[in-house]
Amino acid sequence: MSRFTPKETYRKISDISIDYLKNDVGIKGLIFDFDGTLQLKWKISKSTFEFIKDAKDMGLKVSVVSNNIHINEFLLRKMNIISIKKFALKPFKKPLLDMAKRMKLKPEQIAFVGNNRFTDIYGSNRAGMYSIYIQNNINGFFHKRKTQGSLEGKGINKIDD
Ligand SMILES: [Mg+2]
Repeated sequence: MSRFTPKETYRKISDISIDYLKNDVGIKGLIFDFDGTLQLKWKISKSTFEFIKDAKDMGLKVSVVSNNIHINEFLLRKMNIISIKKFALKPFKKPLLDMAKRMKLKPEQIAFVGNNRFTDIYGSNRAGMYSIYIQNNINGFFHKRKTQGSLEGKGINKIDD
């Protein structure tokens, strides 16, 4: 199996089974990529918002590791996500392993959810995490980063419903 091959692939976050991850795989925490994974078109979908709430209600720890310097912390606070690592340099393992330590979990107890096969899937496979690929065609194989700049005042600090 290639290091770029995820353990699971879905079109959207809400298709992931929290029950399966928790009870069959032994997952205790989720780390999310931000751009193109949690946030799509500057918004967090209602179904993603509900998924995060359900995961937390079921006792999973949730954090974000993003390569971007700018991520919308307002949206993350709304989702009660406090553990955040920006400018993480995925696919290096270190930012993922550092976050695992912050979460007080072993890598194999963590599922990493991302939309980029190189930074997210290759990175989390290398780190020994359970990789989940969100195949939504937002990014190709290599993520072309856009400069996002300030998010304030653009009416994008919202959860879509
Ligand atoms: Mg992404």
